[in-house]
Amino acid sequence: MRLLVFDDDAAIGRLVVRLAVLAGLNAEAVTDAAAFERSLGATPPDIIVLDLQLGGTDGVEQLRFLAARRYTGSIIVMSGFDPRVLEATSTVARNLGLNIVAALPKPIRVTSLEQILEQQRSVPRPLSAEGVLAAIRNNELVLEYQPIVSRHPRTLKKLEALLRWDHPTLGRVLPGEFLPIAEADKDVIDKLTDWVIGAAVQAWGLLRERGVSTPIAVNVSTLNLHDLAFPDRIASRLADGGMPASQLCLEITETAASLDAARMMDVLTRVRLKGMQIAIDDFGTGYSSLKALRQLPFSEVKIDQSFVSDMTTSSDSRAIVKSIVDLAVNMEMETIAEGVETEETARMLEQFNVDALQGFLFARSMPIDDVPAWLAMWMKGGKPASTQTTSSVLSFAMDVRARDRG
Ligand code: C2E
Ligand code: MG
Ligand code: MG
Repeated sequence: MRLLVFDDDAAIGRLVVRLAVLAGLNAEAVTDAAAFERSLGATPPDIIVLDLQLGGTDGVEQLRFLAARRYTGSIIVMSGFDPRVLEATSTVARNLGLNIVAALPKPIRVTSLEQILEQQRSVPRPLSAEGVLAAIRNNELVLEYQPIVSRHPRTLKKLEALLRWDHPTLGRVLPGEFLPIAEADKDVIDKLTDWVIGAAVQAWGLLRERGVSTPIAVNVSTLNLHDLAFPDRIASRLADGGMPASQLCLEITETAASLDAARMMDVLTRVRLKGMQIAIDDFGTGYSSLKALRQLPFSEVKIDQSFVSDMTTSSDSRAIVKSIVDLAVNMEMETIAEGVETEETARMLEQFNVDALQGFLFARSMPIDDVPAWLAMWMKGGKPASTQTTSSVLSFAMDVRARDRG
């Protein structure tokens, strides 16, 4: 386990390093921002000890930098300021999504630091970038598929592939838990997305053999868009699987660590020119901005579920959803509403002319084996059956597993 201390006072850095080494950690200290950035490296440390007064920079600025890099490890802040400053800094850090495990007043009491380091050493850390790479190698990742249903008539429009990790000891892990770790390292998120696209192309072929012909949407991180060869890699995957480009949609969520806009535009434009669709995901939240909508060649807007889920009770959410739909219509883009859980919400969205709906009202995400049976049930206008597996679905499932192994 690796610990990194950033304090402009080298003596304090040395002290923390000595205590960390005694606690069995691999530790290093830096005294300036450039060295701090270098030491974060491709595999960030598990624990960062950060002083708040740093000479050329300050602790809050460095916390923002860590948040932009989506640092997921433990952070210990320390300061000689009064306790209120220390507490306010911890709040700022938590609001940035960082994991503050302790705030230490200076001068540091050796015993309190020792205790904290000892605790940190025993925290299990099963999810790491290396773990994600191993999961890809060991076939522990799976895609589940959630239907997206078009309005009038409500027919299957496409499937969204959602990633899950069947972890050998933790059981099923959802993307919210391991994506930030994967996204902290370009190489890891690139490999992950390549795996997802490969698996989705394979699924498309398998469904077609079963008589289900439907486009598939996959989620792509903005961090994948740094690579100018990305569109070519997808195109060759599609060609290998015999999947037409028009059948693939990339859903993109803007993240805090927005990168080179020119590069992103280059990559996304080529994706469109190759015939794929692109959706802006979670529109209306965080970083999914109007500027991105105007500049980038999106074909669809996915309205974030936070507005959809309470639109029957909140007039503000209703106004936002309606405005997003109008905006999309005027910009000649399609709209999909996420998180549709009730028939009342679905009706309201249809009145607003939303093009397609997605949510637990129709189906949760399911293994690919279950898609044909769900679709057959859906087309008959039936309600989700208690997951009875017909023999044909069962043989399909075996077929899929055999291919997965092969
Ligand atoms: P998303 O792309 O916006 O996906 C929709 C999320 O909402 C899914 O969560 C889905 O299970 C959930 N959901 C769908 N319908 C409903 C509903 O009616 N009510 C509620 N409460 N939730 C609903 P999930 O699978 O946990 O995925 C979370 C996020 O992780 C996704 O949000 C997406 O941003 C990301 N993600 C998933 N798979 C991948 C992947 O393969 N690659 C990347 N880069 N990101 C992925
Ligand atoms: Mg999505
Ligand atoms: Mg979304």
